[in-house]
Amino acid sequence: MREKNILQILENSSHTVVLSGAGLMAESGYPLLRDGAESYDIEEKYGYSFEEIFSSGFYAARKDLFFRFYKEVLLSIAEKPPGEGFYALKGLQDRGLAGPVITRRIAGLEDRAGCRDVINLKGTIFHNICPSCGREYPVEYIRQAKGVPLCADCMTALRPDVCLFGEMIDNGRMTRAAQEVERADVLIVLGASLSSPLCGQMLQYYSGSNLILVNEEEHYSDQRADIIIRGRSDRFLSDILAESDKQY
Ligand SMILES: [Zn+2]
Repeated sequence: MREKNILQILENSSHTVVLSGAGLMAESGYPLLRDGAESYDIEEKYGYSFEEIFSSGFYAARKDLFFRFYKEVLLSIAEKPPGEGFYALKGLQDRGLAGPVITRRIAGLEDRAGCRDVINLKGTIFHNICPSCGREYPVEYIRQAKGVPLCADCMTALRPDVCLFGEMIDNGRMTRAAQEVERADVLIVLGASLSSPLCGQMLQYYSGSNLILVNEEEHYSDQRADIIIRGRSDRFLSDILAESDKQY
């Protein structure tokens, strides 16, 4: 399908929702901590997998190692800029061609590229809180703390305000995301298969007939999509943007 046709679909849509998967992030040069080559390095260096360390159980039992990992691996991500795909997504929003963006990624890349109406289902590493008094702390505070960062008011160990492995996604966020998908004419899945956890949680709420899947890899679940674009998500977004600019 040509960019022009997709552009028409987006122009005619009253509500387009975007599900942002791992693809855009990987295209931006970010390591995929669960599946990529990075996962091996993590086990090698910390003695545990990403899923083991970044879990509620590990946070409860081994805060020292949890925070060492959090600072060395996850917060280093906060220094890397979002790739062009995220800016292209913002460009589509600016032109009224895309609405809310839903993601399970915690690097806050959509927010940092300036996208609006981003629903971070699992939160982002940019929000860190005191679980006791609720005070919020910037990333810099965590980074500069020696060892386990403590609340300056009540000396409780802080924690990232994200959904750790083993925890449930916040109900309010889930409901908001589900409502957006329910309202959607067009649903675009970027860089994820339809059987990914993100789609597993969200597709059930979509009843439209324009499910656009953009993914490099083929997957048996693809057939559920109305339109399949086989390729990079950042290129897809940039092409639509360019097509739209050509038109005006
Ligand atoms: Zn506190």
